[in-house]
Amino acid sequence: MNDIAESDNGDLLRINKKTFLLSSCEFIDSPNQDDRPKECKPEIIVIHGISLPPGVFGGNYISNFFLNTLDQNKHHYFKQIGELRVSAHLLIDRRGVITQFVPFDKRAWHAGKSEFKGKNNCNDFSIGIELEGEDQTIYEDMQYIKLAKTLNALFNLYPHITPRDVVAHSDIAPLRKTDPGPAFDWCKLYDHLIGDK
Ligand SMILES: [Zn+2]
Repeated sequence: MNDIAESDNGDLLRINKKTFLLSSCEFIDSPNQDDRPKECKPEIIVIHGISLPPGVFGGNYISNFFLNTLDQNKHHYFKQIGELRVSAHLLIDRRGVITQFVPFDKRAWHAGKSEFKGKNNCNDFSIGIELEGEDQTIYEDMQYIKLAKTLNALFNLYPHITPRDVVAHSDIAPLRKTDPGPAFDWCKLYDHLIGDK
């Protein structure tokens, strides 16, 4: 347990305290990251929903987007977003497969213009988790299961972060963002958080 914060009742989901990576998922280093401001540690966890193109699931487009390799010729929507430079710490796809793009101690570029309890630039002090999804489409059970396991591992790593510090992108950017949307069932997430302990 020296270097690892772990949380589980079966298949362990662990975070290495030196690399700040989840041990049981693929890590693909996104160029869209930098250091957090000095003295800035994660205080909140932001839940997002994303699908590329919107409403379509599967494929590698989200990963490509976070790696700046999205082919703008593949879909007209990609021309709108192809020049954006964004990332998240984690993506949980529809099957519950987790990919990490940014170590938790680094700043991922997921929140955009945002505010939480009077503090701007939430990227500075947050962890961003993208669920492959869409506001009006029910999220998959496996996504809740993996998200809960991930959150419990993060609570162990950062004991000052609690379930009440887990917020929606729409909470911190209410005029711009709606994700993860009404289809995301917060009660179900809380049930899984407790059940996973
Ligand atoms: Zn979002």
